[in-house]
Amino acid sequence: MKDKLNCPNCGAPITSSKCEYCGTVFHDFTNFNLYGKNIIRFNCNGKVIEAEVYSAMTEMIWETDGFPRMRMEFMVIDQKEI
Ligand SMILES: [Zn+2]
Repeated sequence: MKDKLNCPNCGAPITSSKCEYCGTVFHDFTNFNLYGKNIIRFNCNGKVIEAEVYSAMTEMIWETDGFPRMRMEFMVIDQKEI
């Protein structure tokens, strides 16, 4: 495993939540409750949706090709366009 990751789009070292060279945003899930309710916002065809979701399943799958997959599934409790 690498000590540090680089921006997948331009290769620059990652120093914050946004690449200072190309603007790529790196999503930070450190405050995401893997086993409970969360409020999330996402873009759906240009509409911003705010949703209360319950993390119904979080699974790390260790594939033999060396690239583990992380699968997250949400149960949407409530949602609205904002
Ligand atoms: Zn970049």
